[in-house]
Amino acid sequence: MTIQDTFKTSLWMHTAVPAPDTKKLNINCSTEVVIVGAGFTGLSAALHLSEMGSKVTVLEAEEIGFGASGRNGGQVNPGLKIDPDVLLNRFGAKKASHIFSATESSADFVFDLVKRYNLNCELKRTGFIYASENKNMLNKSRLRLEWLKKIGVEAKLLDANETAERIGHQIYSGSIYDPRGGALNPLSFVRELASAALTKGVKIYSNSAALSLKKTGDSWTITTKEGTIIADKIILCTNAYTNLVSGNSLWPNLARSIIPLYSFQVATKPLSDNIRKVILPGGHTVSNTRRLMLYYRFDEKGRFVLGGRGSGQDRTDFRKYKHLVHKVGELFPVLKNHEIEFCWGGKVAITTDAIPHLHNPIKGIYAGLGFNGRGVAMSTLLGKWLAMAATGSLPNEAVPFTEINPIPFHSFRGIGVSLVTQFKAIQDRLKL
Ligand SMILES: Cc1cc2nc3c(=O)[nH]c(=O)nc-3n(C[C@H](O)[C@H](O)[C@H](O)COP(=O)(O)OP(=O)(O)OC[C@H]3O[C@@H](n4cnc5c(N)ncnc54)[C@H](O)[C@@H]3O)c2cc1C
Repeated sequence: MTIQDTFKTSLWMHTAVPAPDTKKLNINCSTEVVIVGAGFTGLSAALHLSEMGSKVTVLEAEEIGFGASGRNGGQVNPGLKIDPDVLLNRFGAKKASHIFSATESSADFVFDLVKRYNLNCELKRTGFIYASENKNMLNKSRLRLEWLKKIGVEAKLLDANETAERIGHQIYSGSIYDPRGGALNPLSFVRELASAALTKGVKIYSNSAALSLKKTGDSWTITTKEGTIIADKIILCTNAYTNLVSGNSLWPNLARSIIPLYSFQVATKPLSDNIRKVILPGGHTVSNTRRLMLYYRFDEKGRFVLGGRGSGQDRTDFRKYKHLVHKVGELFPVLKNHEIEFCWGGKVAITTDAIPHLHNPIKGIYAGLGFNGRGVAMSTLLGKWLAMAATGSLPNEAVPFTEINPIPFHSFRGIGVSLVTQFKAIQDRLKL
């Protein structure tokens, strides 16, 4: 963990349920499946594998939820962020519609899982507003709505006035209102997933970074500083934190197949009921359609939580959050001088095609990553797909397994990210 790391200073660290007790791996043992990474993907995979009768061990380099899962905005938004037409062009009508329906089921999947295991994570069906700042983006939203209608989703298009009434300011040209969306406390969710997995017999070791992975006969040996595990199958669920340990991924090119980008968040002190009557009076979550996305919601205690672009690394320095604090006051002038209680950041994993990636590069090795900042629901669902793949029963609807393709010039990604960010900002400004 770097000195600058903000995991401990996040809002969720102050409000989440306690983490279950887990220890460091300091023995040599064997199991059927080892999962690397105790975030939503890894723990969902572990839970579903244990339901299928497999013996599972999870290794986490830091503590449960240390990656994006314990620090995100907690918006349980269904589906992928890309336009459905992109799926159509890439996969053809039949596969695209399967992927669309499956990924759109992700929020309901989380609601069912939370109910089934009675997970204590402040989950609420708040409804989600996908807000467009210009006519071009609103037209794209119209197309998305047509796809949603085809699968029977009762989302609706709101015009500029209806959007303003629901959000509390006038800047949007319109939006999609999707009643399926929700919000939760992400650190509670990931900790509760871990607790559920533990009750099903899954072993979870924290502070136990997987350092190397080697084939030994028909099995795999995974090594940590103080122990080793021999397993038939390994599932890598390390997403944007894939090169957390010594800058290397356990599997060749995995870290180079995604671009890790920082997203930062700020949370105000709890707001009065009077202010809450004018800002998001229905308690909805909001995310805009911009390429450089902005997202906001209320937490359980009425704090306004807003997230957006971060800088090139994690920051505890409050000055690095000024653009977001400014945004809070710009959107809602009534909040201009309202005290900011928390600021923190985390890494999202961007893929070049904006679709999460599933890999099975060789017998016994699986990986799933690249949620492009829309992963609370999607990574939980993908965890189940990984569990199914590892037991040989992947459904047709899942995103296809692909080769691990390193992104060219990945080592220069710092410069690339800055150029791409500037380009996206220009596209947003030009309303493309
Ligand atoms: C600031 C922020 C806001 C976001 N907001 C939203 C939102 O509101 N809604 C939404 O849908 N999505 C959001 N996301 C995206 C979402 O949080 C992620 O897509 C999701 O949490 C990914 O989960 P994961 O389990 O795949 O990865 P992670 O949660 O990142 O877990 C990976 C884990 O792997 C561990 N690890 C890495 N290497 C090793 C190793 N060698 N050995 C052992 N362990 C290792 C890490 O420590 C980490 O805990 C946001 C992300 C961020 C950063």
